[in-house]
Amino acid sequence: MKAVVHDTFGGPLEVRDVPDPTCPSDGVVIAVGATGVCRSDWHAWKGHDPVDLPHVPGHELAGTVAEVGADVTRWQVGDRVTVPFVCGCGRCELCLSGEAQVCPDQTQPGFTGPGSFAEQVAINAADANLVALPDAVGFVTAASLGCRFATAFRAVVAHGRLQSGQVLAVHGCGGVGLSAVMIGAALGAEVVAVDVSPAALARARELGATHLVDASSDPDPAATIRETTGGGAHVSLDALGSSATAVASVESLRRRGRHVQVGLLLGDAATPPLPMGRVVAHELELYGSHGMAAHEYPAMLALVEDGTLRPDLLVGCVIGLDGAGAALAAMDHPTTTAGMTVVEIGR
Ligand SMILES: [Zn+2]
Ligand SMILES: [Zn+2]
Repeated sequence: MKAVVHDTFGGPLEVRDVPDPTCPSDGVVIAVGATGVCRSDWHAWKGHDPVDLPHVPGHELAGTVAEVGADVTRWQVGDRVTVPFVCGCGRCELCLSGEAQVCPDQTQPGFTGPGSFAEQVAINAADANLVALPDAVGFVTAASLGCRFATAFRAVVAHGRLQSGQVLAVHGCGGVGLSAVMIGAALGAEVVAVDVSPAALARARELGATHLVDASSDPDPAATIRETTGGGAHVSLDALGSSATAVASVESLRRRGRHVQVGLLLGDAATPPLPMGRVVAHELELYGSHGMAAHEYPAMLALVEDGTLRPDLLVGCVIGLDGAGAALAAMDHPTTTAGMTVVEIGR
């Protein structure tokens, strides 16, 4: 089969012929229909995330089941599917209680093994991890759910428990932040978008944000949110991942509000100085969000199917496998407003 391969970290990303994947006994091989290009792939290519070389990137995929392992009971050849970027082992206590997104024995295509910048990809523990796609949801749209949209959905709906009429604040309007803005607006919330980029804020407004806070000129975005929303947000997300935005997100909450940390906090930002006195006095709730388990996808896909959620609007560009390497390398110079790139491989 054809796949995008790199032999060194940061080295050439070439389309070449590689052996077809071997089907795990508890897994499937998926013929990839479409796969998203994500900054996490860029980090792995650069060597920021340890992967075995040579490596095939790609973790945001949708496609058709092409081969089924002997121990798989729920899936057959021809099924249209997607998978979470975290695949649980399907056997541990967390997986069995529905929390595969934090499985200690998780696998991730494109990180722990070859990914979906390829005509085929193997997925472990298929009974636990595959998600059936409604006929009305195409592969490009399903791939665009990627890690960002699904993570934003879980952050807003499961952790945030956001209700119609409540206030959602979103700190950072990149891919995951804009997804959260769209999801919050679709749920009938009043959405406050915070970013330092006027273009990102303009995009947030197009996707349903009703209040915009420009953090490049506002010295205290959290205070502005509290003042303009009658006491603060019911739910606030740090969708960027920095000390400043994590703290601002917590400080922008009203009493009994819920902060969800979605952006990864790396390096010096790993231990932000959160105002724990305020957390106690106002009984705030703090959550981390790390993807979404397969069993939670049908509720989200139903909203995609009926048009309530439009992840396709976040797609900027659809390309072929030949262009995938260049699209990944282009993330050396990211632009927040260009939208997501999706690689279409088959139908
Ligand atoms: Zn597990
Ligand atoms: Zn991703």
